[in-house]
Amino acid sequence: MEASRLQNVLRNHYDASSWWPVTDRRHRRFEIAAGCILTQNTAWKNVERAIANLEEAGLLAPKKMLAVEEEELRTRIRPAGYFNQKAKKLRAFAEFYEKLGGRTPTREELLGLWGVGPETADSILLYAYDVPSFVVDAYTKRILGRIGMTGEKATYDGMKALFERTLAPDAKTYQEYHGLLVEHAKALCRTEPRCAECFLRKGCVYGKNSRTK
Ligand code: SF4
Repeated sequence: MEASRLQNVLRNHYDASSWWPVTDRRHRRFEIAAGCILTQNTAWKNVERAIANLEEAGLLAPKKMLAVEEEELRTRIRPAGYFNQKAKKLRAFAEFYEKLGGRTPTREELLGLWGVGPETADSILLYAYDVPSFVVDAYTKRILGRIGMTGEKATYDGMKALFERTLAPDAKTYQEYHGLLVEHAKALCRTEPRCAECFLRKGCVYGKNSRTK
């Protein structure tokens, strides 16, 4: 199935327009980037608790985050897990963000930061800076693999290219598409997929072979 066709089918079933929660408009970019780091290896609901803690302490701003004791930062972000590493990552990003002076970072610059891999870099670019850089997360990988759009050896960059070569480079479109994939992974294409209820089943390799009726 083509990436653009999958997008249209998903659009008929889900609404994923603007689903990133933002609590402090003044530091919107920094807050979103912090969320991208905090969401590594954890569920979004845990990130929301950590962000609420940071907001309550007035730490959702780069200068504040750099000035606070690391111990307090660790305590505030504890609900997001891996809080020792994530506190260091957040401070490294805050320092980088300050040096940018309002400039949009390149993907290479982000990938050069400690603790920032391709998924985090693309999430920061797409959601914090509205740069059309498609995000491939675990949900995307799962859905593409099951549908048969990618093989077992698919790489991050290969999956990213699958979308970027067929879609116009538009940040809002990429954000919405990523949101649609997340919605589908949560609603039907779960770890234990609900193929019998799935509208994609006819065109899905896994779904067609599934024993569920
Ligand atoms: S048919 Fe099953 S495996 Fe395929 S997309 Fe739907 S839920 Fe996922």
